[in-house]
Amino acid sequence: MNIFNCKGPLLEREPMWNHTSFSIGGNSDFFAVPADLEDLRNLIVDARHANLETFILGGGSNLLVADSGIRGLVVDMRSFDSFEAQGRALVLGSGSSISDAAWRAGSAGMAGLDFLFGMPGTVGGALWMNARCYGAQISDFVAWVEVMDWEGRVERMIVPEDEWGYKKSLFQRGELIIIRAGFDVARGDSEALRHAMLSKRENRLSKGHYRFPCAGSAFKNNREFGTPSGILIDRCGMKGYRIGGAAVSTWHGNIVINDRGAAATDIETILLAVARRVEAEVGIRLEREILLVGDWRNG
Ligand SMILES: Cc1cc2nc3c(=O)[nH]c(=O)nc-3n(C[C@H](O)[C@H](O)[C@H](O)COP(=O)(O)OP(=O)(O)OC[C@H]3O[C@@H](n4cnc5c(N)ncnc54)[C@H](O)[C@@H]3O)c2cc1C
Repeated sequence: MNIFNCKGPLLEREPMWNHTSFSIGGNSDFFAVPADLEDLRNLIVDARHANLETFILGGGSNLLVADSGIRGLVVDMRSFDSFEAQGRALVLGSGSSISDAAWRAGSAGMAGLDFLFGMPGTVGGALWMNARCYGAQISDFVAWVEVMDWEGRVERMIVPEDEWGYKKSLFQRGELIIIRAGFDVARGDSEALRHAMLSKRENRLSKGHYRFPCAGSAFKNNREFGTPSGILIDRCGMKGYRIGGAAVSTWHGNIVINDRGAAATDIETILLAVARRVEAEVGIRLEREILLVGDWRNG
């Protein structure tokens, strides 16, 4: 425990099922919640000196953590949850809930990020994945991103347009930790924005997004296929397909759920089985969207 210099909470053997939307995952060796930039810098430098890998955790809503957990240090960004509105500019801390931030901005008459209301996860995770829904993606609104590199240096960067793609960002190279970001927003009518946001949540409710622990879309919807992954999976008769406590949901082919006490390996086995069946029957190779994290070599 003494390896780390951190004012925020620092835990050992922290169960990761407590920090993922799947409610799945074994223990992380170390789990820290940095209180500020100084803490974050100390943690990553201390981990490197101790030869430990570091994983940056947002809301845990796109992750499948191994049953044997995560070796090394998990850094939970939840304390970086600032919200600053300056005219047409919105500055959000990376640990802020993207849905709460969208609601707060929309309620203050700032239009732009409202399409993300109802989506789980943080601003940092949404930027990492270039989160998208309802025909928009977060990169459409990003003005700049403040990042820390693994030496602890902080800089503000403008991400070149060609670094963003479908569920793709330069942050996926793993070289930078997102601290906060500036967004360009437009003036909008707060009542209309609230109404639009609530109807998006209704739409998610009707699609069964929150019914069981899950991590959203299991596979990417690569537009080259012309058909959503969920429909391909459905056509292959995989809705309701079950292994252990995990299942392809009966209401949406692209949502895999933790139905009753699923192990990470149950989910992974389902993902493999679905991808194999779709490739065999339709000739399309699905690309997994859910990220596998942690110590998969040991189960
Ligand atoms: C019910 C449900 C519905 C969903 N709907 C959608 C949807 O409509 N559209 C969509 O795109 N996704 C959707 N998702 C998936 C998920 O919510 C998004 O991918 C979300 O952006 C992940 O954010 P997170 O904070 O939970 O990231 P996490 O799952 O914690 O992490 C994801 C990745 O981001 C990295 N990361 C997180 N924060 C930082 C940071 N500060 N700096 C550097 N790296 C960081 C992590 O290291 C990891 O590699 C849904 C998920 C669920 C459970």
